[in-house]
Amino acid sequence: MKTLFFAFRCSFVALIFSLFTITCQAQSAQQWQAGQVLSTTALGKINIDSCFTASPITDQIFKRIWLKSFKRDCTVPTDDLRYLRVLHINKDGHTQMGELICNKAIAQDLLDIFHKLYQAGYRIEKMRLVDEYDADDERSMADNNTSCFNFRKIAGSQKLSYHSQGLAIDINTRYNPCLNTRTGLVQPANGKRYAHHRINKKNQPIRFIDKNDLCYKLFIERGFTWGGSWNNPKDYQHFEKRNP
Ligand SMILES: [Zn+2]
Repeated sequence: MKTLFFAFRCSFVALIFSLFTITCQAQSAQQWQAGQVLSTTALGKINIDSCFTASPITDQIFKRIWLKSFKRDCTVPTDDLRYLRVLHINKDGHTQMGELICNKAIAQDLLDIFHKLYQAGYRIEKMRLVDEYDADDERSMADNNTSCFNFRKIAGSQKLSYHSQGLAIDINTRYNPCLNTRTGLVQPANGKRYAHHRINKKNQPIRFIDKNDLCYKLFIERGFTWGGSWNNPKDYQHFEKRNP
């Protein structure tokens, strides 16, 4: 009886300890600010899976996007959007906390894709909300920022972009610019030199997205369309899911 009681007490202590560990892990991942570079020591203490999360748009997040990416005439309810936090490997090879807002219909796709890209060491320079650039797409792209939701029209058109519904994402935007093949216009302007000669060199940290690229393969596997396959524009940074 005594042995039984001892065994019971041990498993109770083990249960409390593991609950405590889980709580600590969740807390530390949440404490990290978006954009923060994380040390190997800090990462070693937590479960990496707990760093890839999707949550509803809280009042705090809404304040950041209101009248920026979330315009007054926005037709997408906030209930349809999700705030994602994911890890990514930055240009220098360090782990960084990233953030995105997307449609809930593709939230799981993006969590899976960014988890795989992180594990593969795929470099993504920055991943902050476009609202950090006052929802100015040119500024965000020029800073090579990866982003998703922005209620806006397609550049040079009256049609709403898939970014308006959070169903399109732009990756490493300066190195994967958008080229208008008729006018020669390149967006962002500082990505001009990457619009034509897109041959990946061996040790180039940020890859040009092409059909051999891991990022391309992961998005295509999940039913996304790549803007680099279009005739005009050649939108190398852009993936969208039309029927999620
Ligand atoms: Zn785009």
